[in-house]
Amino acid sequence: MRKPIIAGNWKMYKTVAESVDLVNRLKESLKEVFASKIDVVVAPVYTSLYAVSKVLSGHWIALSAQDVFWEMEGAYTGEVSPIMLKDCGCSYTIIGHSERRQYFGETDETVNRKLRAALQAGLYPIVCVGETLNEREQGETFQVVDRQVRRCLAEVSPADMQKVIIAYEPVWAIGTGKTATPEQANEVHAFIRDLVFRLYGTQVADQLRIQYGGSVKPENTKGLMEQPDIDGALVGGASLKADSFTAIVMGALAAMGKG
Ligand code: PEP
Repeated sequence: MRKPIIAGNWKMYKTVAESVDLVNRLKESLKEVFASKIDVVVAPVYTSLYAVSKVLSGHWIALSAQDVFWEMEGAYTGEVSPIMLKDCGCSYTIIGHSERRQYFGETDETVNRKLRAALQAGLYPIVCVGETLNEREQGETFQVVDRQVRRCLAEVSPADMQKVIIAYEPVWAIGTGKTATPEQANEVHAFIRDLVFRLYGTQVADQLRIQYGGSVKPENTKGLMEQPDIDGALVGGASLKADSFTAIVMGALAAMGKG
């Protein structure tokens, strides 16, 4: 069985003090949860990473960045490398979030470079894919997701695939309050798993964890997580408060035991 993974993307919210406060609250509210049952990840802004890593030192909640650059060091003003993320306590990084694609020119090719660099540095990449509303309405969802997955995973070895997490995030569901129904989401997750099976074979496909993202809230988590191919959630808005993020983790735990 795949271990569920719930990640909170804090986007460009929270000062250092607010980030530390939130993670302290999560440590308290998740203290009855067994680390062996679920992976919980938080992704604060760059400026809060180090302070949050100190609070999480020795704790099972893992730390993620929201982006990464593809070189390890150099004259790249404003960028942060995978080894620098490792150095300040990250074990994960989100790559290719639709907001990066929409506002900062991220492409499948840059996502692929970042993904390979993250793997080289020993980070677990959470790679985001998903169609826009227009693409869904044109009936292009599977075509778009197929292209994104193939390009983003180019030249990634089967061994490295053990560390990759894919987040299916339909762009029309992010921050809009519109969630894909559990069946709609699972249909795309199953498609991604089948594609990974065709690219890498059964073992990699069976182990691959695919998160759903897009207006995940406490009320819809269990229904989504009960779907056979949904292994977790990438949560934006609802991860900014300890009570809602905790309720999402609990919802994921409640859905465990699915066939
Ligand atoms: C996200 O930022 O990845 C996301 C899914 O946001 P929200 O949960 O707010 O829709």
